[in-house]
Amino acid sequence: MPNYCYYNFNIVYYLVNQFIYTSLMKPNYIEHIGIAVTNLDEAKAYYEKVLGLECYAVEEVADQKVKTAFFMVGQTKIELLESTDGEGPIGKFIEKKGAGVHHLAFAFDDVDSALKDAENNGVTLIDKTSRKGAESLRIGFLHPKSTLGVLTEFCSK
Ligand code: ZN
Repeated sequence: MPNYCYYNFNIVYYLVNQFIYTSLMKPNYIEHIGIAVTNLDEAKAYYEKVLGLECYAVEEVADQKVKTAFFMVGQTKIELLESTDGEGPIGKFIEKKGAGVHHLAFAFDDVDSALKDAENNGVTLIDKTSRKGAESLRIGFLHPKSTLGVLTEFCSK
């Protein structure tokens, strides 16, 4: 191949990449890490005593069948999730996999655009459009089968 062909191809490649890169809604930071726990009080005690973090809120999210406790680490929250009903998503998760990291949540300026971008990239969505989550965030979940096994949440204020 003559040298100039290679050169032109690189420019096209660069421009296409630039377009994709700049048009894609990108997360601003990790909003929170959701952790499934079997006992919220015990879990809270660990984060308070061992890590020295302060629980700033406890909230029950009835439609998710969970009780949550929040800790701030820099800009990122730790969200402890205790099931209030074995049939709820956290109850089922613990039954299948045991306690541990449940999901990763990314903060976006516009959660609905971010969900649409992911869907356009072939990701299966659990929530096609955002809904109200804990701490009155707008949230939407991506299916873990499309996200390398990590249940992924998108959210915005
Ligand atoms: Zn979450």
